[in-house]
Amino acid sequence: MRQPLVAGNWKMNGTKASVESLLSELKAGFSDALNAEVAVCPSYIFLEQAAAALKGTGIALGSQNVCDQDKGAFTGEVSAPMLKEAGVKYAIVGHSERRHVYGEADALVAARFAAAKRGGLIPILCVGEKLEEREANITEKVVAAQIDAVIDLLGIEGLQGSVIAYEPVWAIGTGKTASPEQAQAVHAFIRAKLAKQDAALADSMQILYGGSMNAANAADLLSQADIDGGLIGGAALKAEDFLTICRAG
Ligand code: PEP
Repeated sequence: MRQPLVAGNWKMNGTKASVESLLSELKAGFSDALNAEVAVCPSYIFLEQAAAALKGTGIALGSQNVCDQDKGAFTGEVSAPMLKEAGVKYAIVGHSERRHVYGEADALVAARFAAAKRGGLIPILCVGEKLEEREANITEKVVAAQIDAVIDLLGIEGLQGSVIAYEPVWAIGTGKTASPEQAQAVHAFIRAKLAKQDAALADSMQILYGGSMNAANAADLLSQADIDGGLIGGAALKAEDFLTICRAG
């Protein structure tokens, strides 16, 4: 049985004060009895603050990216060993804003994924098609290539101990959620693709959905057979909405 994971991607939002109050609200409403594992991914600058606030709670910490190198002259980057030391458990890699706003290619995302694993973090590999790619009926091809970049680098076994998040680009931050059926179809495709190389890995892989998931639509999405949780952007900034999604997981 796959345990659901609900992770909040806070993106470049917050101040020390607002992070403090969001964390307090989450802690107040969080219960260990939740079926889903819960994680939050604040901006790098707030990670240590969040780690201190979340100590002893069941809420895990994630980063929004990670450098592909472990140390050295890589200005502006943050390494997996640094994140590990700060108390981070998960590292998002290949978020669509990294791929499409900052031009991170599949190979770089795969190298970041590898660095996360080397550093003892659990990568959350984001994959997903743009609207024009869906309209051109190449969703599966795009998603497969994004996953294959990791498999080419690390082998299928490299995906062990990681999480995949299917996030259609057209659904992120737009309020246009994929329908449960649309999302389930891509999730099933991903699992079947992995199963061709390793059935046990495919069966245990947590595949999250992300893209305008909110308190109102989470239960329908999360009830799909191959949707094992969510990566939540906007709704993760409101404690009550995020907790409602966590309870639906
Ligand atoms: C995201 O950024 O990963 C995301 C899913 O954002 P939103 O929920 O706001 O669409």
